[in-house]
Amino acid sequence: MPSMLTLVFRKLKVGSKPQKEESSMAPQPDASQQRVQPPKKQRSDFEFGKILGEGSYSEVVQATEKTTRKEYAIKVLLKRQMIRENKQKYVMRERDVLTRLNHPFFVKLYFTFQDKDRLYFGLSLAKRGELLPYIHKVGSFDECTTRFYSAEIILALEHMHSLGIIHRDLKPENILLNEDWHIQITDFGSAKILEADSSDGIVRANSFVGTAQYVSPELLTTNRTERVEKSASKCSDLWALGAIIYQLLAGLPPFRAGTEYLIFQKILKLEYVFPDGFPEKARDLVQKLLVIDPKKRLGCDECGGYPKLKAHPFFQGVDWDNIHKQTPPALKPFTMLDGEEIHSDYYVDDFNILTPNSLSDVFEKINTNETENEKTHSKKYVLDHSSEERAHLLSKQEKDVKWHQFVEGNLILKMGLVDKRKGLFARRRQLLLTEGPHLYYVDPENMVLKGEIPWSRTLKVEAKNFKTFFVHTPNRTYYLIDPEGYALEWCRAIDEMMHYTYQA
Ligand code: ATP
Repeated sequence: MPSMLTLVFRKLKVGSKPQKEESSMAPQPDASQQRVQPPKKQRSDFEFGKILGEGSYSEVVQATEKTTRKEYAIKVLLKRQMIRENKQKYVMRERDVLTRLNHPFFVKLYFTFQDKDRLYFGLSLAKRGELLPYIHKVGSFDECTTRFYSAEIILALEHMHSLGIIHRDLKPENILLNEDWHIQITDFGSAKILEADSSDGIVRANSFVGTAQYVSPELLTTNRTERVEKSASKCSDLWALGAIIYQLLAGLPPFRAGTEYLIFQKILKLEYVFPDGFPEKARDLVQKLLVIDPKKRLGCDECGGYPKLKAHPFFQGVDWDNIHKQTPPALKPFTMLDGEEIHSDYYVDDFNILTPNSLSDVFEKINTNETENEKTHSKKYVLDHSSEERAHLLSKQEKDVKWHQFVEGNLILKMGLVDKRKGLFARRRQLLLTEGPHLYYVDPENMVLKGEIPWSRTLKVEAKNFKTFFVHTPNRTYYLIDPEGYALEWCRAIDEMMHYTYQA
């Protein structure tokens, strides 16, 4: 009798037809009559590279097929762990969904194989990884970039829903980017196939499917005996779409709180606000997606379906039929100031920042417009003090400067209030440049150290005007606005520190 494990994994083999056991002696059909199956792949066919990510019961590894040199992302699942955590159902569902989807905006399942301990899923490689770190990196997307990516997500949802599949965990972490920066939606562990699954939409009490910030209100209110109707289930993905569009433009998801419970309360009360600068048409779109009644959500069958959603004025000009052939807009750090988009001269290529201008050119451009008043404030920030002088300055700082408590005994070289922007949100912070070097920022109202801009050889500072300057680090651009208008001086000080630290 076959073991439990064997039965489970027989079900998981590629395609729905039963696979022939290698040891079988059964007579082979005439080769001319059978469709030739490519030989089953095995672990030794691949060179395994870096780990791309880890799930709760899997690891995804970059792999190159030795004969074809084709690159894949291979998801490796440990059988024992899967059984121990009772995840077989989710793995099978993921495999079933991936097999059905055939669209450029989804990760593709090319093959599966297994050995004694593991299952292997050969997926298309999304070389640029998840969308979320790019939102963090640039703070938020401008309108044009948001329009492009929202349109791709909508086309993907339209395809998926037409096959009766609901994702149920749509979020920026599950939207990957391929080498050409187009989306590849992944993670179908929580998905539902409506026709095939008699338990459609059942939601267990005290639990929910998905991720708190993107979960729709109907999934929070449905109790053990209720069923979310099929059309309403699809609408849960449309709610998540609304939350994602908000996040792309604002930089943070609409429903935020310290705990999941508090997030759910806000979702149920539709308690969210649009920050200043949120574009009008996008606001209207989000308001039509984040609707408590799933049947009143733009894009649902009852509201005219996808044609109505695609016709929303926010998407004016989108070439829906050819979007997958277009070059996505380059991701550029930018911020909004007084209703105007201020773009960086740099653009993002993975996590390296490339630039069409050299840094000194940008400085030159601004220096020539610099007022006499600005020039008189120029000073040298890098200190060449003797140890006695430094000790004297430090003891004075300890006595007189209330920010001393945050700087770990380092001498403060420059400080001042700035507005630190993240997406469309801004916070007033005391910025402290110290020896080390360090760039600390403190909440001046509550006198709490909020963080530090990480220094590295690749840090770049960019002045945009007298008030606005950007500090680019590998994982994030910091958008800083000096209300007093000494942005250039901040740039000079940081730049001097860079030279002193890395070129001395
Ligand atoms: P969980 O299993 O807990 O739901 P998960 O869905 O994030 O987590 P995986 O599907 O195993 O787990 O993926 C783990 C990570 O691997 C992803 O977050 C992603 O960063 C990376 N990854 C997954 N698939 C690919 C792919 N096709 N190309 C590139 N990276 C991928």
